[in-house]
Amino acid sequence: MKNIKMVLFDIDKTLVFGENAIQFYRQYSEILEKTLARLLQVDTITSKKIADEHRAAFDGRGELAFRTHHLDFGQWHDALTQLSPSQFLTPLPNTQALLQELKSKKYIVGAITDGPRPLVEKILGATKIDSTIFDFIIGWERGKQMPKYGSTKIFTQICMERGIPPQETVMIGDSLSSDILPAIAAGLHAIYINPNQVVEQKKYRSITNITQLSSLL
Ligand SMILES: [Mg+2]
Repeated sequence: MKNIKMVLFDIDKTLVFGENAIQFYRQYSEILEKTLARLLQVDTITSKKIADEHRAAFDGRGELAFRTHHLDFGQWHDALTQLSPSQFLTPLPNTQALLQELKSKKYIVGAITDGPRPLVEKILGATKIDSTIFDFIIGWERGKQMPKYGSTKIFTQICMERGIPPQETVMIGDSLSSDILPAIAAGLHAIYINPNQVVEQKKYRSITNITQLSSLL
């Protein structure tokens, strides 16, 4: 991977990873199921079934159930924002060191998440990742569509705004459908994080967590 000038990170299960993160992000699913149950006026066994059907069909993206059922996405945003990451997450010095290394090498470093923007500061606070180290952080703002949402648009937009060609940009994330495939379709390089196994493909590189990133850049 040569001539990379800009490095984009997903946050959930990418910058913030490990056992604690798995526990923490499990709540996203539970809150999604509870919110679905409330809005559809069904029990949580039924809403979990609906969410699971969407997860199976759309690469883990249970939130698409809101779209299928024409429900207010904002309700999930608000419920997630109430979470207390500090109850689950602990400092991630490896992530902080990696970001510092990239900044010292003069990369533009951005974070982009479909998680609620207000929750990002809390997650970074709990993991002691300095939010000011990023050149920009893009998250889901209430009333707006999620920034990635499986689309190429945000990747194209970031490259345009920063004046960095897509082929000099790399996206790193744990979701093929939100992070990797849309980034590649927009002309970026991509590194797929899969904690279970390295899944190398022609179009992207793969690592099991971001501590292995330095060797690829
Ligand atoms: Mg993620």
